[in-house]
This record gives sequence, structure tokens and C-alpha cells, in this order.
Amino acid sequence: MSTQTLECDILVAGGGIAGVCCALAASRLGARVILCQDRPVLGGNASSEVRMHIVGATGLSGGGELETELREGGIIEELRLDLAVRNPQRSPSVMDLLLYDKCRREPNLTLYLNTTVVGATVAEGMIRKVRAERQSTEETFIIRARTFVDCTGDGRLGVEAGAPFMRGRENKAQYGESLAQETADVKTLGSSIMFQARRHDRPMPFAAPPWARRFTADDFKLRPYAQGGADLGLEYGYWWIEWGGSLDTIKDSEHIRDELLAITLGVWDFIKNHSGADASHWALEWIGFLPGKRESRRFVGQHVLTENDLIESRAFPDAIAYGGWPIDIHPPEGVDAPNEPPCVQHHLPFLYDIPLRACVSAGPRNLMFAGRNISATHVAFASTRVMATCAVVGQGVGTAAALALRENVLPADIAADSELVRVIQQQLLKDDCHLIGIRNEDDNDLVRSASMITASSSRAGTNPELVRSGQTRAVTCVPPNRVRPGTHRWMSDPARRLPAWLEIRWAAPVSVREVVLILDTGLHRLLTLSQADGYTQKMLWGRPQPETVKDYMLSVETANGWQEVARVENNYQRRRVHRFEQNKVITALRVTVTQTNGLDHARIIEVRAYA
Ligand SMILES: Cc1cc2nc3c(=O)[nH]c(=O)nc-3n(C[C@H](O)[C@H](O)[C@H](O)COP(=O)(O)OP(=O)(O)OC[C@H]3O[C@@H](n4cnc5c(N)ncnc54)[C@H](O)[C@@H]3O)c2cc1C
Repeated sequence: MSTQTLECDILVAGGGIAGVCCALAASRLGARVILCQDRPVLGGNASSEVRMHIVGATGLSGGGELETELREGGIIEELRLDLAVRNPQRSPSVMDLLLYDKCRREPNLTLYLNTTVVGATVAEGMIRKVRAERQSTEETFIIRARTFVDCTGDGRLGVEAGAPFMRGRENKAQYGESLAQETADVKTLGSSIMFQARRHDRPMPFAAPPWARRFTADDFKLRPYAQGGADLGLEYGYWWIEWGGSLDTIKDSEHIRDELLAITLGVWDFIKNHSGADASHWALEWIGFLPGKRESRRFVGQHVLTENDLIESRAFPDAIAYGGWPIDIHPPEGVDAPNEPPCVQHHLPFLYDIPLRACVSAGPRNLMFAGRNISATHVAFASTRVMATCAVVGQGVGTAAALALRENVLPADIAADSELVRVIQQQLLKDDCHLIGIRNEDDNDLVRSASMITASSSRAGTNPELVRSGQTRAVTCVPPNRVRPGTHRWMSDPARRLPAWLEIRWAAPVSVREVVLILDTGLHRLLTLSQADGYTQKMLWGRPQPETVKDYMLSVETANGWQEVARVENNYQRRRVHRFEQNKVITALRVTVTQTNGLDHARIIEVRAYA
């Protein structure tokens, strides 16, 4: 093995959804980032290797059409919209490619695929460097960084650095959790192997290998199978093929994979040959060889997030993300507990804050983490673990890591620096993340000090001033003391047709270099790449969202009169950033919408302008 030394500002270990969003956020803010991923593709449990669909706070409503705009914004929304439009065929490999493409496009981000972080050197309470290995090229990398972020799920980097972690299920008394065990144990949620099947035009026989498990209908009385209506819905199954939570999900992972393959083929054998369902024309198309791992280690951070934090929606001054998925607890024995439901979902009353302190180690002072290994009890983790929540935590951590480095503040000291926390939160809002109850108070945003905002027309109940309300979504699922009710977007009058325009005017000329627009992408709707046909039918997949502005122009008024500075066609994204080569001294800015992707009127949620 040859050895190379690499230098960066931030080393992110693990390229699941948390790691990718963390690395993208930090590198987009100018930090030099290295992302090490031990697999050939990015995405972790959302990759083509495992194929879980990304869910998040939309689970608060129990699914379907949402009464409020719960869907996460920021990088995960950018990814979801790209996939909805550019992957109508729902190919899992296109997901891998999209994540790879996003990373490859970032000039400050260097991606090391097939590269496993295997060691760390700590001195005076700080991680100084990590060791990573790429077996395919027989290379060892010594990677020096200022901040290290563990997004490996299993917490390998932190463990190598001696960071404290928890494992298993706490008892009720430890954190005062009603949903915890009477007695603590070392069990976790289990792992699963997913499969995909396809219906053919002729019978497709299946003979199980001798090592497959044998099941009877009694084993599945609480586990729904072949329930997709006339076509049985066998195209994607089954998250409840879960096993191994009574073992060590790291050390026993090879054994768990073998047993899960035996279980998965046993389930398929039962459906095809013994269940009575007419599955004769169905055949396996794909079967996972990499078990999706739900749980292993959870780090001990500066704060341990608990059930009560979630249920009470406790307000944290250092909030960097939010969650809302139910507390989703499974029996560790999985299919070997046929008399227990495969999951019990305890729905939460509100969205909840995730504080930065749950993502900063109580050990090494420059270690942060994002994803399923954050500092949360087993019960709280049962909600935070879903991938859109991991994504927003990843973006929050990447943003905090990058901005703290600019100020020379160690991760361990960020939360105590209220001004830095404010800057991090304002950056997250600027990047279209949502933080419960926090508004745009960015002093650099010139739109906030504009003298007048007008429009060609406004639909009843809205007005152009709403593009600087400081709030970019209607979220009613928050405790009363944190609600900020009201409409938050300008809509043109449908009767006046398109084009429609919105104009921002300043009393004195301002110098503008960047304009940020937030457009409507229907955050009240589900949207995620899924291999399940029934779930996808609840979304508008394979097309832009109808609310979204499709074609628009940006014009500015200068001393020489009006000039067009940007023209966009076929937009489907929610966040659009226009950066000019040079500052423009302007007295007014106008957005003219000529077409949407479906609606008969224009909608603009927020406009920001920066020098
Ligand atoms: C069967 C199953 C069903 C689930 N259902 C859903 C669902 O429907 N929706 C949902 O949103 N969530 C679901 N979850 C939960 C969710 O998938 C996980 O909690 C989530 O993947 C965590 O994201 P992560 O980025 O933290 O970790 P992971 O997705 O585990 O990604 C971590 C990545 O780090 C890499 N890595 C590990 N060690 C190293 C190392 N030493 N060096 C470099 N790289 C390393 C891994 O290969 C992996 O790619 C499910 C989980 C499972 C297993």
C-alpha cells in the first residue's frame, strides 16, 4: 500500500444522505471538503444498493396530502425536485448518479469513493488526522483537517477517535422516557434486505434454495404482503423483512446478511408458492445484497435528544434542523417476533427542533456528526433516523462547520457563541432550510430595507410585501407559542393572466451582486423517489410541480434605465440564485413571470438581494 497525505478544512466520513448534504453545504460555503465513502456509490440506505425511499417530517401528518408545508427545503428539496423531473422512470441508479454529479460539480469538494476511514489520531482533545484506505488502488490516505464530521452511520471515525457513544435501548428512568424499556438492554432495530419484482406475460416459476427459511401464513398475520390490489404490489418489498437487532449489527453483519437472504427468499417462496396469492407471473428483478442497517452506535454529544424534547417540541436556541417523523419503534427480533407488529409509530403533535449540540461530540472538540448516529436516545433516534431529517441535519452541520471555521471557532464552542449561532441559522434560512419560528433577519439582505414592493396584480389575500415576510412556508404544526400564522407568498391575480411582475424599489441606489428567489414547489405534497407504485401515486412524479414558476426574467433599473439581467426557461427548482459578474447599482429590481409549470398565476415566496 502506498501512502498519500491529503489536507482539507473539513473531512466528512460516510456518503449516505447525511454525509452528502453535509459535504455539499460546507463546500458550497467555501470550505475545502473531502468526502470519503466506503462504497462505490453515494446515498447509503437511499442508494441503488439498498433502495429505501427518503421520508422526513411529512410523516407528521400520517401521509397523503399534507395540511401544512412540512416537506424539507434546502439541498434535499433540490435533490428531490431534480429526481422528480429527471428521473421519471424512477431508476435507483439515476439516484446514485445524481448524488455523484452534485458532488463532482462542486469545486471545493473532493470525493473519495471506495475509501474507508479506518483510524484517527487524537492529540490534546482534538482529532489531528484520519487514516483511510482504498483497497482497489492499494492506497492509504492520511487526511489532515480542522473539523471532522462522522456521517458513517456506524460512527467508525468517532470510535477510532475515542468519542463516547451509546448503544442499545435505555430504560425509562435514564432520560424519563415513557416509551423506553423497563430494563435497558443492548438490542437495536434490525436490518433489512429489500427486493423488487416484476410481472411478466407468462408464468415465472420460483424454486427456493434449500437454505431459504420456510414460512406459513401465521408468520405474517401482522405483516401485510401482496396487498397492492389486483397487481399485488409486489414491485417493492418489504421493509418488515427485518432481523438481527438482537445481535451486534456491526460485528455480526455478515451473519445478518446471510440470514436476511434466507428470510427474503423464504418470504418470496411463501408468496409465490404457498400463500394462495396469484403471483405466478411475478419474478424477482433485484434483491439487495447489502442489508439496510437501521441502528448501531449513537454518539454522546453536548446534548442528548430525548423523547420529551420531541413530544414537547422543546425550543433550542441552537436549532439547526427540524424533524417530525413519528417515533417509529420496531421489535429487534423482526420477523422472529410474528406476534408483535413490525413497527409501532407514535405520532408526534408538532415538528421539533434538532439542536447543534446533538451533533457535536462530548469528546474530541473538533468532531461533529450527522445522520442516524447523532446524539439521541434510542426512542428519539426512532424519529430522527429518517433520511430527509438526516439530510437537513447534514446541511445544518455542514453549514455550521464551514461558518465556524471562518470565525476560527471550534465545533465544541459554537453553541456558546450566540452571534455565530445566529449567523449559522440565518445562512440556513438563506439556503431555504426551515427552522421552526425563526425568520429572515439577515442584515445583509437589501430587500428588507427596500422602500416599496409592488406587483402587476395580486390575488385576494396576498400582497407583494409577503416576499419579505421573513417566512417561507406555512407550518401550523408547531406549539402555539412558536406559530407565526399567515400567508407567506405573493400570488398574482389569475384573472389578469400572465405575464405578471413583482417589483422591489429602493429610496436610494443600492449595489447588488446576488439575487435569491424562493419559488413554490408544493411543499404540502409528498415527493420522494420510491420504488413503490402505490406510494408514488400519491405524488406528482415525473414532472415539475405545477405551482413552480417555469419561465421568468430578472430586470434591474439603473441610472441608464431598465435592463434585463437574467432570463430563465424551464425552471422547476424552488431556490434560484442569480450572481452577477459585477455589482450593479440599481434603484429597482423586477421579476417578470411569463409561464408556470401548470397554475394560471405566478407565485413567489421570497426575494433577497445582496451586495
Ligand atoms: C430497511 C430500512 C428501512 C428504512 N426505511 C426508511 C424510509 O422508508 N425512509 C427513510 O427516510 N428512512 C428509512 N430508514 C432509515 C434510514 O435509511 C437511515 O436511518 C439512514 O440511511 C441514515 O442515513 P445516514 O446517512 O446517517 O447513514 P447511512 O445511510 O447508513 O449512510 C452511511 C454511509 O457511510 C458509509 N460508511 C460507513 N462506514 C464508513 C467508513 N468507515 N468510511 C467511509 N464511509 C463509511 C456507508 O457505506 C454508508 O453509505 C430505513 C432504514 C432501513 C435499514
